[in-house]
Amino acid sequence: MQDAAHKRVLILGGGFAGLTVAMELERKLARDPSVEITLINRENFFLFTPMLHEVATSDLDLTTIVNPARKMLRRVQFLAGEVEQVDIQGRRVVLSHGFDHHRHTIEFDFLVLGMGSVTNLYGIPGLREYALTMKTLGDAMRLRNHLIAHLEEADSECCKVKGPLLTFVVAGGGFAGVETVAGINDFVRAAIPSYLHLTEDMLRIVLVHSGPVILPELGDRLGVYAQQKLAGRKIEVRLNAKVEEFSGRVVRLSDGAAIHTNTLVWTAGTSPNPLLETIPCAKERGRLLVTESLELQAWPEVWALGDCAAAPDRRTGGFHPPTAQHALREAKVVAHNVIASIHGQEKNQFDFSTIAQLATIGRRTGVANIMGVNFSGFIAWWLWRTIYLSKLPRFEKKLRVALDWTLDLIFSKDLVQFLDIRAPMISSPEVDSSPKSEAAAGTR
Ligand SMILES: Cc1cc2nc3c(=O)[nH]c(=O)nc-3n(C[C@H](O)[C@H](O)[C@H](O)COP(=O)(O)OP(=O)(O)OC[C@H]3O[C@@H](n4cnc5c(N)ncnc54)[C@H](O)[C@@H]3O)c2cc1C
Repeated sequence: MQDAAHKRVLILGGGFAGLTVAMELERKLARDPSVEITLINRENFFLFTPMLHEVATSDLDLTTIVNPARKMLRRVQFLAGEVEQVDIQGRRVVLSHGFDHHRHTIEFDFLVLGMGSVTNLYGIPGLREYALTMKTLGDAMRLRNHLIAHLEEADSECCKVKGPLLTFVVAGGGFAGVETVAGINDFVRAAIPSYLHLTEDMLRIVLVHSGPVILPELGDRLGVYAQQKLAGRKIEVRLNAKVEEFSGRVVRLSDGAAIHTNTLVWTAGTSPNPLLETIPCAKERGRLLVTESLELQAWPEVWALGDCAAAPDRRTGGFHPPTAQHALREAKVVAHNVIASIHGQEKNQFDFSTIAQLATIGRRTGVANIMGVNFSGFIAWWLWRTIYLSKLPRFEKKLRVALDWTLDLIFSKDLVQFLDIRAPMISSPEVDSSPKSEAAAGTR
């Protein structure tokens, strides 16, 4: 039987928001055996999204930007599984896990919702079937494999039509899209000398953006600077254009253009996690509306934060943007408020304004706005690397990333595909196992 003094805190989602809440609670409640903390996440690791494009374009090795949740948490119970139902009224959550996806029901006294967002394809024809996305580690691995496979295919002597294989289109002129297109451009141009039948002038790299200037969050000056830099590196920037359709062979744009390509990377839309639709509470464009203490208005002792929450910004009268830096700060407030609720103390309110916004735009250049001051060029790129390296959790991963970046100065980018192909094998009943053949094998 459950001891009345025993409190169960359940955290859903182990991204920037949920994992940070778990780590804070672990640190602050380390000596309190009456509180049980459980974290559920789909993957058994935490993904550092700001460096995702570096994995996709071969700057960093696959596992350098992820951290196993079990190495970051000692006391918090970690469950790798899929949250399927959230029943706030009944104070329980259903998750499925294991090879057979069997289900468990977990009860809670305090709930933290940090399940992030998903890519939104806006129902555009062909995107679900043929477009690549940039959200998960799997997405980055798929893009890297895709780029290399297309270079290999185009290089073969029997390949007669190389154009669509060597045309790479990225949709979305926000941070993820710009960093991805710049990374692709650097990667494929650096790879060309390894392919004897390919030359740089065969490549076509296109960025499609629906607005008049890319990187709108950074303002016009830095956006225009980034556009000019990308154009100078032979990236075609198509402004005021939207993707209308992708057939897997042709991308059709709203400005009438048709781009013949096998590759469309879609970074132009996100939506709150669809599981939130089932939660009976007020929402703002699908995000859970929370109070300044980050609690659901209708459900005290249930908190939401990160990309899945709409937290009021008292400075602007609007809502805080969905970024990692907000998720991290919100997590500290939520952890404090969970403890305050357990002990009947006063809760804190969330108040923060963006400190810095940075993007890399390829070839050791970047753009940044730090506390209202604009930076561009090498200094902005150097700030990007320094700041994000300091934010990457765990010393081991920082060191691995720093080593990868240092080795990058000496060696060219790796062109190895991560293939999931079993080694060839035979199952012949007539294996010659005579002593003679064994002896021959031993004397090779
Ligand atoms: C390519 C890319 C680059 C970015 N770069 C930056 C940047 O440079 N700076 C910045 O501030 N922000 C950046 N962002 C945004 C930033 O990643 C998000 O704002 C941040 O991750 C939000 O944190 P979160 O914890 O709310 O969500 P996430 O970090 O997305 O975490 C959500 C977690 O919930 C899990 N989950 C979801 N549904 C379920 C379920 N049903 N069952 C179990 N688990 C589930 C997911 O697996 C995930 O681990 C970037 C995003 C992307 C995609």
